[in-house]
Amino acid sequence: MNTSNGRKIIYPFDEWQIKETEFNIGTNYRNETIFTTANGYMGMRGNLEEGYSGPENTTFNAVYINGFYEEYDIDYPEGGYGLAQKGQAMVKVADARMVKLMIDDEPLDLFKGKIRSYERILHMKKGTVERNFTWESPGGRIVDVSIKRMVSLTRPHLAFIFFSVVPVNFDGQLKFISLINGDIQNSRYDKKDVEKDVRVGAGIEGKVFRTIKTVADNTMGFMVQETNRSGFKLACAVEHEISCGLDHSVLTEAKGDMVRVDITVKASKGKCYNLSKYISYYTSRDDVENIEESAINEVSRAKQDGIKVMEDEQKNFLEAFWDDADIVVEGDAAAEQGIRYSLFSLLQSAGRDKKTGIAAKGLTGEGYGGQYFWDTEIYMLPFFIYTRPETAKNLLLQRYRTLDAARARALELGHKGALFPWRTIDGPECSAYFPAGTAQYHINADIVYAIKQYVKATQDQEFLYNFGAEIIFETARFWQDLGSYILLKGNKFCINCVTGPDEYTALVDNNAYTNYMAKMNLEYAVEVAKKIKMERPQLYAALASKIGLKDEEICRWEKAARNMYLPFSEELGIIPQDDSFLYKKKIDIDLIPEDQFPLLLHWHYLNIYRHQLCKQPDVLLLMLLMREKFTPEEIKKNYDYYEPITTHDSSLSPAVFSILAKEIGYDSKAYKYFIQTARMDLDDYNGNTKDGIHAAGMGGTWLAAVFGFGGMKVGDGELCFSPKLPVHWDSMTFKVRYRGRKLLVKVQKSDISFTLMEGDPLKIRCLEEEMFLEKGAMVKKVYISGGHKKCTTAE
Ligand code: BGC
Repeated sequence: MNTSNGRKIIYPFDEWQIKETEFNIGTNYRNETIFTTANGYMGMRGNLEEGYSGPENTTFNAVYINGFYEEYDIDYPEGGYGLAQKGQAMVKVADARMVKLMIDDEPLDLFKGKIRSYERILHMKKGTVERNFTWESPGGRIVDVSIKRMVSLTRPHLAFIFFSVVPVNFDGQLKFISLINGDIQNSRYDKKDVEKDVRVGAGIEGKVFRTIKTVADNTMGFMVQETNRSGFKLACAVEHEISCGLDHSVLTEAKGDMVRVDITVKASKGKCYNLSKYISYYTSRDDVENIEESAINEVSRAKQDGIKVMEDEQKNFLEAFWDDADIVVEGDAAAEQGIRYSLFSLLQSAGRDKKTGIAAKGLTGEGYGGQYFWDTEIYMLPFFIYTRPETAKNLLLQRYRTLDAARARALELGHKGALFPWRTIDGPECSAYFPAGTAQYHINADIVYAIKQYVKATQDQEFLYNFGAEIIFETARFWQDLGSYILLKGNKFCINCVTGPDEYTALVDNNAYTNYMAKMNLEYAVEVAKKIKMERPQLYAALASKIGLKDEEICRWEKAARNMYLPFSEELGIIPQDDSFLYKKKIDIDLIPEDQFPLLLHWHYLNIYRHQLCKQPDVLLLMLLMREKFTPEEIKKNYDYYEPITTHDSSLSPAVFSILAKEIGYDSKAYKYFIQTARMDLDDYNGNTKDGIHAAGMGGTWLAAVFGFGGMKVGDGELCFSPKLPVHWDSMTFKVRYRGRKLLVKVQKSDISFTLMEGDPLKIRCLEEEMFLEKGAMVKKVYISGGHKKCTTAE
């Protein structure tokens, strides 16, 4: 059976579940990504608790802690000044998920014996992954097994495994062997793979942990380890409970890099035997005094509370989450499942502790080294801003935390202000390829764009004053220093030798995206400086003195913004991506053989750079971010030019095309690109879901639904809507948090309705007409061809 986009269905459509219906070596690796359980702090890939004895390269075993990294040296055969020297890569940590099962003298092993039935389900309402199967051992013993895994969304340091076994046709002995395995090797990637595919991973190989302490005490065990270079400590504790007041024996051992708790029960046919394993991780990056004690207390408390309490907490948390975040689509099960999986994955991936961000692959894999990119600010943050603003704030605070590193980087490169890195965990630039790394100066403005959106949507002035402003000023300072007035460009302020978002073009002059965004950054800095000066003069004085800001400098920002060179091609009537882009050779993408994509894996960069080829939207992304500046006709002209030369080799691409296509009436394209982003990982579009999810594409899913089909725009202090659903959708319902309000929006074929659920009355604009919303009352606008009729009904 195929999906609505003609692709083969991998996971049966289900509104709230992702289901694997058979155990298959060929798809195991990918399923480990899809069935990851995570909570923004830790992530556990969907590896099998009982162990995996299948062939090499069909599995990748990993538990991650967000932002927990090891350092490595970046080696350059030919060096150069200012090249990034040290990388940071998220590493696998001690694996506490393992619970092997011995059935008499036979180990439970899905590669032996016979699997009589099998299913694995990710429940997006319950926040658990459950595996249920019936297995017959080579010796003929049949067991019904059910294993539930949950990573707690309310207790960030806690996870549990609930392992349940029923002997179907025998009486005998069951032995649960529960482990913390600290002997973790970072050997995942074949060096050849990494050399071939820059997206895969970073340079960490071998073992990065030293075990400092292991303790086993009856049903409890723990381990403390330390990384070799970054010097971080990690404590992992486990606690166990065997149910039914059973007659059981416990044997524990702590040795080397292993903690082992064996629990043996005498089992009778038809009875159910349950083991609960509570797992906790703390690291020296957390704000606790004693990580060892904290981990032990966490599992002890969990054992006291029991599984049911934690499951209820999880359900309640998710109920509240979905109440804010859900997008309900009637008429398209594939889209619904894709949307929910995307939003659920964003929740699982986002750091919420002000210290961690969202890695490009979330916590599902170490593709891109577990590092944070501009993906967060431009693609994922809007979802949080308009549904969970407190998480958006924490993500922005994480950036603020790295401001000193950004200042140091700017200085190293000979500039004033701050330069945020293209990829990083804790602040330093980790990209070894500066043409597509450091040269993406636009990251600075992307962060400021996100701050501006956040402040506009929440009116969180305290954030702006105490954190945002400093970033905004330091980045404005950077732009002013980077650019210059060029005589032959009409003495305009030009920014040369940069790389825009599209990585198939590098080191160019006047990249349109960068110049427009830098202008916004400079203008916003001027506006914010004036505002703080007026509203909080003392705070302004303190900040100005901290960063040495003088009024003359603000005047220079104003001048640079006013004179910013904004490229436009009179001949073609479009915005050129940069000064040289339109003078490059054009190439028909359709004539490039399928097996050459993604081009970055098959073409030398020089060959890519000399063509008019885009990996992802650049001018079109600019048009999306600044929609108020461009008419639909202008968008159409640029869309028509850039779409045929875009390869979409980046997962960040389709969402942008979807939104703009909807805007200019290319309805079938809008849907085609939408479903591509919404089901990117569930349908494994890029063939690399095994390395981890595409988190930015998931943020793009929310954007394409709400900003695209919902037509939501955030004008100056006003929410605007101009919806249009895909033809086969009956309705789409979503909620938006905006300036202390919560708004329910339902788009149907014949009308759109708004209900203000929380907060003060609000004026919005829908299809060019002003509407006034009051709490509890639903306001509906009926579409009539040639015009619209408004009617208000009180609920
Ligand atoms: C894209 C970048 C993105 C990175 C991480 C690359 O393929 O071109 O824009 O930041 O992936 O997702």
